[in-house]
Parts: sequence; structure tokens; C-alpha cells
Amino acid sequence: MTKERMEQLREQIDEINFKILELMNERGYLAKEIGELKKSQGMNRYDPVRERKMLDRLIQHNDGPFDDATIEHIFKEIFKASLELQEIEQQKTLLVSRKNKKENTVINIKGENIGDENPHFIFGPCSVESYEQTRAVAKSVKEKGLKLFRGGAFKPRTSPYDFQGLGWDGLKILKEIAEEFDLAVVSEIVHPSHIERALDYVDVIQIGARNMQNFELLKEAGRVKKPVLLKRGMSATIEEFMLAAEYIVSQGNEEIILCERGIRTYERATRNTLDITSVPILKKETHLPVIVDVTHSTGRRDLLLPAAKAALAIGADGIMAEVHPDPAVALSDARQQMDLGQFDMFFKEIVEK
Ligand code: PEP
Ligand code: MN
Repeated sequence: MTKERMEQLREQIDEINFKILELMNERGYLAKEIGELKKSQGMNRYDPVRERKMLDRLIQHNDGPFDDATIEHIFKEIFKASLELQEIEQQKTLLVSRKNKKENTVINIKGENIGDENPHFIFGPCSVESYEQTRAVAKSVKEKGLKLFRGGAFKPRTSPYDFQGLGWDGLKILKEIAEEFDLAVVSEIVHPSHIERALDYVDVIQIGARNMQNFELLKEAGRVKKPVLLKRGMSATIEEFMLAAEYIVSQGNEEIILCERGIRTYERATRNTLDITSVPILKKETHLPVIVDVTHSTGRRDLLLPAAKAALAIGADGIMAEVHPDPAVALSDARQQMDLGQFDMFFKEIVEK
């Protein structure tokens, strides 16, 4: 008898579960429609006043056996899930999203096709310090048959008393040397008003970690026809990183290379923590090429090679690393740049894999 009753009750519970499921999904469709309406009117999706009203009305009607706090908690979860439904819809429309464009974006920089599933390399000094120092590295890059050459002219330094870069003179040096060796220049621009003028000097505009959320700079970089190398902010989530790229694409420039360069965590064994899984996540979520800067993420010369191997193994489209003829006397990042001999070894090992 008890067994029979138990089965009966369970059957009723199963039926109610189905009804709840049906009602939940019905509610979900309505919430999505409301989301669309809000979007078309430019309204914010999250409406705390409306949520409060709904909760108050539910609690007024609550006759138990669940207490008010439990009812409030359960409905808060339902509201959250509905809001998430609306956000998934929103993400579908992001221009950088893979949902918007299935195929990889391939960026041609002087014949280097970044995103074509072959590894690409960007080497060069942290800062352009002099013509001779920059040329020595460029020569070594050229000898390896490589094309992409980096060097900072505008340096965003933590301390105002540290070397700030040679500015336009640095870009002139880069341009002259790149012309001599037929290389493509990647260099950071820090000011929105410099973008236009920088087009004469660089083949790729780098936007540094510290400027990932400099929205005016992003918008300006989005208005020109020049590839952008966008670095992940030091404390940026993957979503924030994607939205920073969206700022550029939404202005019309789709040529963006995303660069994972480590994030700040409590770990002090490395300069930053290389978030290696951000690479396959970004490759999955966006159609943009993703590279890894092994120098700024690890901050350790002894980790450059294993980090680069890991990055390529996990699907990165390229590697960035810093090289200096005499790192001990470098004006920035002296501890982590490779010298020319180490550079030869590093490159040999990475291509041989
Ligand atoms: C750089 O690449 O020169 C640089 C400053 O790196 P980040 O912006 O990643 O710190
Ligand atoms: Mn550096």
C-alpha cells in the first residue's frame, strides 16, 4: 500500500516537473521577446525595480510550505537565467564573435598571413633605444627569414622617471631599418591623436595592455585601415578583452590580432600569469587570430621557450618575444629580453619543435 502511494506521488511530482519545465521555457521565450524590445529602444536589460516588484508580489502570494526567502532565492535564479538568455542573444550579434563569422580572419602583413594556421613570429627589442641597437636585432630577424619586427617607441612605463621611449624619432628609426631589411613594423601607439600620423611609420598598430580599455584609442584605431595588435589588459577578463576588440571592429576595422600577454594574479614566480587556456577560448569565441607574448607574460628568460611551445601546441597563431643585443644594459625589461645568441637558439628550437 505505502509502495503504491509512493509511486502515485512520484508520478504526480514527475508531471509537475514537466509543467514547471514547460512554463519555464514559455517564460524564457517571453523574456527573450522583452529583451528584443528593450534592445530596439536602447533600454537596459537588467531592471532591478521590476525584479523587486515581481518578488514582492510572489511573496505576498506565498502560502507555503516554502518560506519567503526560499521562494525569493528560487525566483532570483529564474530571473538570472532569463537575463542570461538575453545576453546570449546579444553575444550572437558581436562582430568579433565566431557566431557572426565562421571562418578565421586572416591578416596579411607584407605577405605574412596571420591566422592561416601556420605559426608566425614577432621579435624585436622592448624599446627602440638607438639606431645601432635596433638594427642589430632587425638583422638577426631578417637572417631567420622572418618578416615581423617589433620595437617600442612610445613606452607606457610604470614610473614616470623610467625611460619613456624615443617617440617619433624611434618610429623613424624603425621605418628606416624596416625599409633596409624589408620588414614589417609593429609598434605601440598610446595616444588617439597619434594614430593617423603613425600610419606612415608602422605596419601594425600595437595597443598595449595598459590601454586595452582606452576606448578613445580603440575607436581611433578602428577608423583606420591598418592591422591592430591588441594586448589583453593586465586584469581584463576574456569577455572584456573581446569587447575591447569589438570597439575596434565596430568602427570598421576588422584586422585585429589578439595578444595574450599574461594577467596579474597573486603568483609572483612569474611576472604575470600566462593564461594559456585563453588561447583556445578566444579562438573558439572569436574569428580573430590569437598570439602569445611570452616575454611579458613570464618575465623570465628561462620560461620563454617552454611557454612558446605550449602556446603553439594549444593553438596560438603566433608568438611575440623581445630580443636585445645586450639585455643587461637595456633601458626597459632588461631581465627578460633574449640576447642574440639566445634568440638563435630559441628560434632553432621552436621551428624544430
Ligand atoms: C610591449 O609589448 O612593449 C608592452 C609594453 O607590453 P604590454 O602592453 O603587454 O605590457
Ligand atoms: Mn617589454
